[in-house]
Amino acid sequence: MDYDALLERGLSKIPEKATKSSKYETPQTEPSIIGAKTVIYNFKEIAERLNRTPNHLLKFIVRELATSGALEDSRATLQGRFTKEALDELVVRYIKAYVLCGSCNKPDTKLVREDRLTFISCEVCGAKNPAKTLM
Ligand SMILES: [Zn+2]
Repeated sequence: MDYDALLERGLSKIPEKATKSSKYETPQTEPSIIGAKTVIYNFKEIAERLNRTPNHLLKFIVRELATSGALEDSRATLQGRFTKEALDELVVRYIKAYVLCGSCNKPDTKLVREDRLTFISCEVCGAKNPAKTLM
């Protein structure tokens, strides 16, 4: 067996788990502090990766940071200076609160509003768990 074949065999032996778990990587923010504001350049992309609207994600972030913010094209601008670490942490919290299914922990969910309540509806296991409603 030559080296290439060995290499290929080795590659095909990489456990599927490794590729599976990296399938759902937490999106990283690309922020930059400009004056007294923080701009997240890839904001829309993050929301799309999470299958949520940029508006909903922004509502969560500004509430958690007790600030205000605006969407513009693919960016979000927040009032105040925030570190990438703080923003990434908020994305993780958002995912836990509004993306992952509370029953099977899969991210393949939708937010459904019924009356004044918000539910996380899972496309994998069919569970519907209440989520906090963002005002
Ligand atoms: Zn589920």
